[in-house]
Amino acid sequence: MYLVFLGAPGAGKGTQAVAVSKQLGLTHLASGDLFRQAQTRGDELGRQVKSYIEKGLLVPDEITIKMIQEHLERFNPEQSFILDGFPRTLEQARALDKMLSQRQKAIDRAVYIEVSPDELTTRLTGRLTCRRCQAPYHRVNSPPRVQGRCDKCGGELYTRPDDAAETIKKRIEVYLEQTAPLMDYYRKAGKLLSVNGSQDIEKVTGDIVAALAVSPGRPRPTQPTEARVKSR
Ligand SMILES: [Zn+2]
Repeated sequence: MYLVFLGAPGAGKGTQAVAVSKQLGLTHLASGDLFRQAQTRGDELGRQVKSYIEKGLLVPDEITIKMIQEHLERFNPEQSFILDGFPRTLEQARALDKMLSQRQKAIDRAVYIEVSPDELTTRLTGRLTCRRCQAPYHRVNSPPRVQGRCDKCGGELYTRPDDAAETIKKRIEVYLEQTAPLMDYYRKAGKLLSVNGSQDIEKVTGDIVAALAVSPGRPRPTQPTEARVKSR
């Protein structure tokens, strides 16, 4: 089973990818980890990745695709995986399909963790950090015992610039804009699976696992039934 996880910042995509991969015995391939690995490897591709990240720029599609391709080439094709953080754009999704089809494989499902923009904003803007010990809090989900004070060290709690309301609104907007064509792409292929992400973490995980178990995989000539059953 090859899965792609999609979800806006704050939707809990990474958390769910970890939980689902544990429950189903899949390998969790987070693009962030692959970027870090590439940088430490220090080869040509790694140096390119590093130069973009150091400048605070988004790594271009072409380089990101190359990095994923290199990783998948070394990856055991019989091992099931969840891709987390990739693809991010339509171009990346097309490139992914192309590299998999060369190995007679295909993405089985794109799991979209759906959380309304309003709730995403509440989740992300509620973040508080202790100035002294950096402990994280949340106004609604994990408030400190004394308002504005750290439970652990009594330090002052503040909102980091990254977590400021305007920055967050922008980040969510950019994500939704970028992801709409990607979701259309998987929807048209009959692979999109939307899960309500506004629930408890465990409930969301359970819903994803249940949906994956019951959703009828489209018969694909590229992936024989035998291989699908074996990979579950
Ligand atoms: Zn503290």
